[in-house]
Amino acid sequence: MTNDPQQMNCQEFQAQLAELIGTGQNPGDHPHLKTCPLCRALLADLKTIAEAARQMFPIQQPKEELWERIVSAIKNEEASSKYN
Ligand SMILES: [Zn+2]
Repeated sequence: MTNDPQQMNCQEFQAQLAELIGTGQNPGDHPHLKTCPLCRALLADLKTIAEAARQMFPIQQPKEELWERIVSAIKNEEASSKYN
């Protein structure tokens, strides 16, 4: 575990991603994204999914809970696609 965001690995960054977005911060400014095309792509996916989710589920939900569900859905999808 490191306190330097530039030394953060993908797992650590992705663990913080839902929290960053849920608290209204802009994860696009995160130093990890400047060095990691994988996480840039992940964030772009998240934004697309979030936009679609807003249109599909207009019911108000706690923002953090919604993001946690989106992030965990993507992780599950990636985990299963690795083994197919
Ligand atoms: Zn990364």
